[in-house]
Amino acid sequence: MSIPQKIEEIKKSIPESVSLVAVSKTKPNEAIMEAYDGGYRIFGENKPQELTRKFNELPKDIIWHMIGHLQTNKVKYIAPFVSLIHAVDSLKLLKEINKQALKNDRVIDCLFQFHIADEQTKFGLDLNDAELIINSEEYQNMQNIRIVGVMGMATYTDDENQVRSEFSNLKSIYSKLKSKFFSEEESFKEISMGMSGDYKLAIEEGSTMIRVGSTIFGARDYSNK
Ligand SMILES: *Cc1c(COP(=O)(O)O)cnc(C)c1O
Repeated sequence: MSIPQKIEEIKKSIPESVSLVAVSKTKPNEAIMEAYDGGYRIFGENKPQELTRKFNELPKDIIWHMIGHLQTNKVKYIAPFVSLIHAVDSLKLLKEINKQALKNDRVIDCLFQFHIADEQTKFGLDLNDAELIINSEEYQNMQNIRIVGVMGMATYTDDENQVRSEFSNLKSIYSKLKSKFFSEEESFKEISMGMSGDYKLAIEEGSTMIRVGSTIFGARDYSNK
């Protein structure tokens, strides 16, 4: 199956209300252009340098999502063009995004990343951390960022019940934040969860945005990196 056919296949199997981010990290421009020529526009990358290079080399109507952990000193590279930053996990990072967005005369949409997995290595906030950020004076004065929802990654395991309960936990975090802080904001509506191995479960648990890489582009090859 070609890349556009794989995207079509996935889109047919998910509700229309769920958006699909095609995760193109490590993949060459040619692979992205195959999807692009098939009419597809939303791509996700997890490294600022690679994202910036691809932005420079590829058509300018591509909608780029930064899905990976973002270091504060890298924000400036992507601030001019990034559409959505999925993994905001500190006030410090959010301050820098706000600052760089202001420099570029933009408002940048962001998601709070929550730590829902049973693994030490995955980044993210807990509900209390997020509330502290939202209640801070600094956050309340930020004019150039907009929080549009939450993001999380489940544990990498075959245990469906565990994955399901982690996704369900993220959904409940979303609902709490929505009712407590964002009930008036229609734009706070995204729950970014689900990847190649678990997006069906994620959608059943309330995902509005899935991030799918290997099912579309094939397995990634890190051997020569
Ligand atoms: C790589 C990556 C994905 C996509 O993973 P696949 O298993 O290839 O679908 C999704 N989300 C994040 C944050 C990633 O880094």
